[in-house]
Amino acid sequence: MIEPDLAAAREWPRPLPVVLAPARDEALSSWLARHATFYGLGITSMRRHCVPDSVSLPGLDRKLTPDQEARLAHLFRRDRVAIRDMMHMHSGWAVDRLVARAVDHRCEQCARLLASEGHADALPRSWFHTWRISCERCGLPIASASKASWAVLPDLFHHLWSTALKGERLLSGAVDRASPAASDLPTTLLRVLMISSASDAIPEGRSMLSCPGSTPPLTAMGSLFRSRP
Ligand SMILES: [Zn+2]
Repeated sequence: MIEPDLAAAREWPRPLPVVLAPARDEALSSWLARHATFYGLGITSMRRHCVPDSVSLPGLDRKLTPDQEARLAHLFRRDRVAIRDMMHMHSGWAVDRLVARAVDHRCEQCARLLASEGHADALPRSWFHTWRISCERCGLPIASASKASWAVLPDLFHHLWSTALKGERLLSGAVDRASPAASDLPTTLLRVLMISSASDAIPEGRSMLSCPGSTPPLTAMGSLFRSRP
């Protein structure tokens, strides 16, 4: 772990007196925004207090310098690993292109669960993940954050739903195993698909792409992506 600039660290403000517990899988920007509300500050004021050299709160979900990470850990009395765990990004992985800049979808059932747990305004990281078609926590179909009719998608694509779920699991698994090697998005998706093809029960000598009657998971997911507004 890269150590922060100790001289700069001596200038940091004191830790916040009250630190809110993060919600399950909460995004860093969401957690910081809830602190802003708790302390009666605007988002910009809170960001400048916590990470003065940052540009935007959502940007902190994607990238933190070692100094920024250490400063947040100091102010919020958490270790740096806990701060990093609230971010979307793993170094250099092309999945960055699949993570929305703002919330992509929400699950109404889990929103109610979060509210019952005292985290009504919390935004889970998975709600930014554009490849998801089902809720990471409860498994129900998700609803677009921008278009209510998106909720009917499972009915429109009923014949692809189970295959699309398989594609969703492939991508989620690939993100969890995030490789530090950077590559472009098409290459990354092809690699994920090839790994799946190798492990699926497809007749010997046939690839998933050439196997009649099978729908490649990412083809199914591509159909869903293309239909999005
Ligand atoms: Zn849910």
